[in-house]
Amino acid sequence: MLRLPALFELPILLNQSPASMAAWENLPSDFFRIVYSRRRKGVLRRRQIIETATIDGRVEDGRDEVVRWRRHLHRNPELSFQEEETSRFVYETLESFGGLQLSRPTPTSVMARLFGEEPGRTVALRADMDALPIEEENDFEFASRNPGVMHACGHDGHTAMLLGAAKILAGMREEIKGEVRFLFQHAEEQPPGGAGEMVEAGVMEGVDAVIGIHLSSYLPVGKIGIGYGPRGAAADTFEIVVKGKGGHASRPQKVVDTVAVAAQVVTNLQHAVSRNTDPLDSTVLSVTRIAGGTTHNVIPETVEMEGTVRTLQEEAREKVAGTMERIIGGVTAAHGASYEFEYRRGYRPVVNDEGVTRVVEGTAREVFGEAAVEYLPPAMGGEDFSAFQREAPGSFFSVGAGNEEKGITYPHHHPRFTIDEGALLTGMKMFVCATFGLLDGGKEAGP
Ligand SMILES: [Zn+2]
Ligand SMILES: [Zn+2]
Repeated sequence: MLRLPALFELPILLNQSPASMAAWENLPSDFFRIVYSRRRKGVLRRRQIIETATIDGRVEDGRDEVVRWRRHLHRNPELSFQEEETSRFVYETLESFGGLQLSRPTPTSVMARLFGEEPGRTVALRADMDALPIEEENDFEFASRNPGVMHACGHDGHTAMLLGAAKILAGMREEIKGEVRFLFQHAEEQPPGGAGEMVEAGVMEGVDAVIGIHLSSYLPVGKIGIGYGPRGAAADTFEIVVKGKGGHASRPQKVVDTVAVAAQVVTNLQHAVSRNTDPLDSTVLSVTRIAGGTTHNVIPETVEMEGTVRTLQEEAREKVAGTMERIIGGVTAAHGASYEFEYRRGYRPVVNDEGVTRVVEGTAREVFGEAAVEYLPPAMGGEDFSAFQREAPGSFFSVGAGNEEKGITYPHHHPRFTIDEGALLTGMKMFVCATFGLLDGGKEAGP
């Protein structure tokens, strides 16, 4: 009678007893990977499994150093095209690893080349290094020391992660077939952007695939955001000056009221999107600054406006500038005013290559598990990573850095923006593991 319950419990014991769970936990982590990859045979080869296990240890060993680098960079932010101390720090840190061929493609960018034992493909990894003109409101110990300048987009993390990946990969030279190129880019936040300048300096010559990571406070730490096709928008800017005839506010019949005309221009510009573009093309037009006048009783001669246009398709982008000019011209003419209009093309849309993205997604699933991967819809933010993608198939993906429990929820470009530093390890591991995927398996999965 006493033995009966035990018999019933046997299957439960086998599956779930604390003793058996402990036995599983004591197995080395690569055992899990071997079991896992056998279940999905063909996804990872055994050689890569061993590398992944090695990488886990190296990433863990690099944790403190990468956090320290990130905090150093966070404390000492520099604006776009002025990354003098930052690039010097990056150069000297890379130099200390040994085995890397270093150069300065532009005054404030750094390139490091790592040549493997055997020839093969060339994979480029990109991190941007610039900060923003924002006064930091965080009060942690490593908050910005430069008044009015802040790493409010996570580029400090990108730089630290790529330094960490460079250190790990430099220590695994004998495992590398081909070349890994580390691109520490200046000036992502300020068009015309650093990526285009680096491309002009030749950093993409001979590159077979390029990847870039953006940390994201919108995505919980531990998640990896993947997207195929269009990922980011073309970010163009415009300036408009409405010119009229100033005068006394009490005698409107004697003036051409630029404020009233400018208001009409703003309203009618919305038709450039809502009535003139294909509803299936994603287009955003925002007037973000309007300025005119000095006091309550004077109608100003001119009113200035500026704003941005975001498009995901090149055709929509071509069309929108022409439509805007027609509207501005028509509205100002109708009221006897004139105008100046300048449309400045910004970064091209970020469009992810299918083959490279498949390798990135496969890496994320293998290394972090199925639940870690999130598919992201295109966003309307601009990114000059697109300049690298013009030269080689590439993929730009997100690494979650948000954490509600820790209050890390502020949006990018906010004076209280920060990241969960756990994301640095995720990003480092993604850089390293995806590199091996693209060097080895890239031939099968890639273009
Ligand atoms: Zn940004
Ligand atoms: Zn950014």
